[in-house]
Amino acid sequence: MRLRSLHLAAIAVVVSVFAIGSSAARAQGVAISISPTDSAAAAEAIAAGNYGAELTPPQGEVSKGSAAFMRVGQGAIQAMPADVIDPLVTIPLPSWGPVDLGYFNSLPTTAHTLTSTRQWNVYLGCPASDQTCWGNPQQFIADLNASKFIHVADQYVGSNALKRYPLASSYFYNLPASPPVSPVNGTSTVAWLLSVVGAAAALPGNTPASVTGPGNLYHLFFNQGIDVCIDDGDTTCYSPNNLSTFAFCGYHEYVDFNAPYGRVYFTVEPYQAVNGCFGPTSDITSATANVLSHEIFESITDPNLDAWFGTGNPIDNLGEEIGDQCVWLHLYPQKLNLLHQAYVTQNEYSNKYHSCVDKP
Ligand SMILES: [Zn+2]
Repeated sequence: MRLRSLHLAAIAVVVSVFAIGSSAARAQGVAISISPTDSAAAAEAIAAGNYGAELTPPQGEVSKGSAAFMRVGQGAIQAMPADVIDPLVTIPLPSWGPVDLGYFNSLPTTAHTLTSTRQWNVYLGCPASDQTCWGNPQQFIADLNASKFIHVADQYVGSNALKRYPLASSYFYNLPASPPVSPVNGTSTVAWLLSVVGAAAALPGNTPASVTGPGNLYHLFFNQGIDVCIDDGDTTCYSPNNLSTFAFCGYHEYVDFNAPYGRVYFTVEPYQAVNGCFGPTSDITSATANVLSHEIFESITDPNLDAWFGTGNPIDNLGEEIGDQCVWLHLYPQKLNLLHQAYVTQNEYSNKYHSCVDKP
């Protein structure tokens, strides 16, 4: 589901956040809060329609209907490649597999995808003030960056450089004394993002330009029990306790702030070990990795919602991105044996194989 230009009202939220060093053991303790300026800037960006988001629906919603999700696995499954990173694949356009992704831009792919990007993890509402509420997302991002799996994206972005999506050197935590309100609405999510971006820019060696744009991707993790809505009317939400508004497990979005920040890319990662979101397994580490990897791949291949997605011809997959075409598809769950740990996640769609795969 794609959303643009919803009109949202401003809500001021105050939260305190720590910035820490490259491992959880080296906390630096830079506290920040959402200022009225952050909230006003977030409201202005949203009200002006300067954003676009793509939602990952819960499992039940998908199984209700989309034929595309059923057809992905029915093509011929080619042999997975050997244990090497393949050279770049030239994709013939228009695409020639029935559910292949099309490229919806006249600019080179390198100008409209994320070719080399550091990832910032932001943890909200975990009493331990670290990542432990979500399993081990830091290790997953580091492992994914070193994996063959991440190179499924190479064919779409025009790069096959190794380790080009590393974890950023700092993470942010909210203070347990200031838990987020629930549900967290669209404007307060964006205000949180802006406060974190501002703090990142203030870290030694960084500038507003160096922590924004296609070189940076922020992930906002919300703890168990915190509902999140993409609108301010609380109608389109992650709300496993309220099925009438339960519309997504996660999403990726871009938002344009005024100078000096400009465009910022981010994903929203609510707590995934709930009915409708937990994916192939219910353990929180894999459940988190499952939706996080989906949003990372889609952020890389379609960050501005104008690059790679289904064409709608000959089947009804218009707008479905690299992860959507394989979401909740349990025909091919993968056990990813990555560097430090195994994870069970979905596959990603490959035009090269015309199927959902875990290798380039
Ligand atoms: Zn998606």
